[in-house]
Amino acid sequence: MEHKPNIYENKKDIVTIDGPSGSGKSTISRTVASRLNFTYLDTGAMYRAVGYKARQDGVDLEDGDALSCILDTLDLTLLPGNGDTRVLLGKNDISSAIRTAEMGLVASKVSAQPVVRRKLTEMQQKIGEQGKIVAEGRDTGTVVFPDARYKFYLDATPEERARRRSLQLLEKGEKADELDILAQIIKRDANDSSRAIAPLKAADDAVIIDSSNLTIDEVVCFILEKISASLANSSK
Ligand code: C5P
Repeated sequence: MEHKPNIYENKKDIVTIDGPSGSGKSTISRTVASRLNFTYLDTGAMYRAVGYKARQDGVDLEDGDALSCILDTLDLTLLPGNGDTRVLLGKNDISSAIRTAEMGLVASKVSAQPVVRRKLTEMQQKIGEQGKIVAEGRDTGTVVFPDARYKFYLDATPEERARRRSLQLLEKGEKADELDILAQIIKRDANDSSRAIAPLKAADDAVIIDSSNLTIDEVVCFILEKISASLANSSK
């Protein structure tokens, strides 16, 4: 049989799922990873951990040199499991402390610093060296894993994302002001999309999914179908 070259041949077994906050990335990425038996990589948790450490050490979030010192000694462990990835700083479990709206904004600030992006991108590429991962973030398809085999960009309207976030908080028994959440989402989107390095945007070769009117299950099924369709195509 004639060998037909295909675009996937030289690409790594990596799935990237990028998109703005509240687009459903985490749950979807985790589920896709578990269905494929791949490792789930939550890159946002890494930016949050750096922000947390900077705050803890009283470091200016825009001071590249001070952040560089933090990164040199950063003892970060990610433990992906069924729920949110557990995040350890040294022996200290900071999983809950980093997942607040405030830490989201702190992460967004430190993530605009070139030194932080360089170091975390390097760490993420190392984790992805063996392939078989589902990486979630803002730039995983554009910068971290430009050669990933399957790229997706997940979006939803800011209003729908704010609605989902406030429901999540209410389910956890926490207070939620949907208008406040909407304002934070809009601010974080603006920070993330306008920064000079690795801004939030879809890779040219990403499949764009607007999840505003889709359930988590529908998005997961869509992604898994796309992956198996391209696997079937590449084996022809
Ligand atoms: O995804 P999550 O909300 O946990 O990300 C927190 C922040 O970290 C984002 O708002 C963004 O500023 C930053 N981030 C990033 N690049 C990534 C993942 C997260 O800049 N790949």
